[in-house]
Amino acid sequence: MAELSERLRHLPSVDQLLRDADPLVEQHGRLRTKEAIRTALDAARTALQNGSEAPDAASIVAIAHGLLEREALPSLRPVFNLTGTVLHTNLGRALLAEAAIEAATVAMRQAVSLEFDVAAGQRGERDDHVRELLLELTGAEDATLVNNNAAAVLLVLNSLADGRQAIVSRGELIEIGGSFRMPDIMARAGVELVEVGTTNRTHAKDYAAAIGERTGLILKVHTSNYRIEGFTAEMPASDLARLARERGVPLVNDLGSGTLVDLSAYGLAKEPTVREAVAEGADVITFSGDKLLGGPQAGFIIGRRDLIAAINRNPMKRALRVDKIRLAALEATLRLYRDPDRLAARLPTLRALARPLADIEAQAQRLQPLVATTVAGIATVEVVACRSQVGSGALPTSTIASAGLALRPTQGDGRAVERLATAFRALKVPVIGHVEHNALLFDLRCLDDEAGFQDALAAGSYDLA
Ligand SMILES: *Cc1c(COP(=O)(O)O)cnc(C)c1O
Repeated sequence: MAELSERLRHLPSVDQLLRDADPLVEQHGRLRTKEAIRTALDAARTALQNGSEAPDAASIVAIAHGLLEREALPSLRPVFNLTGTVLHTNLGRALLAEAAIEAATVAMRQAVSLEFDVAAGQRGERDDHVRELLLELTGAEDATLVNNNAAAVLLVLNSLADGRQAIVSRGELIEIGGSFRMPDIMARAGVELVEVGTTNRTHAKDYAAAIGERTGLILKVHTSNYRIEGFTAEMPASDLARLARERGVPLVNDLGSGTLVDLSAYGLAKEPTVREAVAEGADVITFSGDKLLGGPQAGFIIGRRDLIAAINRNPMKRALRVDKIRLAALEATLRLYRDPDRLAARLPTLRALARPLADIEAQAQRLQPLVATTVAGIATVEVVACRSQVGSGALPTSTIASAGLALRPTQGDGRAVERLATAFRALKVPVIGHVEHNALLFDLRCLDDEAGFQDALAAGSYDLA
């Protein structure tokens, strides 16, 4: 025992160790470094008590260094999205165009004319930075914007139908990712939901019969993340718009993703454009900024001037507004749409969606040897054909031919593939694939930074045991 207490006494003190740790103090600050040294010392003490050798000062500092490095990793970190879902909600959806990143950086660094009319030298409107662009790109009469499309729907419902009814087809009562359920949003907006039709068929007469004294609006919802197929009937939006107009009730169309360009021009399935929805006669249309549009998170509300004015008068608008950083990025993103010829080259979302298959296949061939070396003895790696998804509730039933790598564990139980996935997530820059048929699949459609990926693998710690 005496010997143990002797050895414990011989451990260096926190202050001694701190003197050896100048570079750490420089990088992480005195407070955190001291804390890490204390933790490392505690561990050394416990190890001694358990009969281990006494670590020297250098190795205690090295342990503290490791703790500090881990602690310094930001929580919101870059990852490689090799899931095959281009607009992955959990991985941040759209990547921004360089022009948008630059604009956002300026807005962060400098004072900007956020609500200031520079020419007149007086107060301006925050929405004005994107209003004209939105009108030009959609053909709408007026426009405003809020935090996201969920907020847009909430604000529109509350502004136009608080204490009254909203008529929705039973085929369109959507749930999107967990907590966005149309009936719940309605209730929170103070709107009474009136369901019409059936899951698969809703007719003009169903809507017509439901319109009454207490009707605030008719809501059409894009069934973003599912399709009802088979014996179905849906009222065409233009017919619905005509009915709404005849009965003096506004028609609101929640487009969800809402694209500003015809995606079929890029070899993708046709999705109704925002301009088409405007032409069909909806009075108000809502759509997202960070889905197919390829910008930062935002919710656009476009449509009839009197209705947009009513929406802007709602005090809730202030609670849902967009900040200057995103506004700058949005303006820059929308501007890219004025030059359609170069859009696919400049907008990462469109670039990823329209990426030629041969390009992805060639990349898979190039990376196969490296990945195979990385997991040598643990898994085989094969170039495979796969199918990407747009994601975020856009084009739910159409997938895009892609290519990637399938990693199949050579031995072990059924959980070996999960362990492989975990090991790739534990890399300095985590690589996120998805597990399919007992293989870890990396769809390479979204792998833009190939060199970065190679570095991540090279720097990796492969704890595959
Ligand atoms: C995605 C989506 C929303 C929610 O939009 P966010 O921008 O994610 O808030 C609402 N309605 C529909 C139809 C959608 O597809």
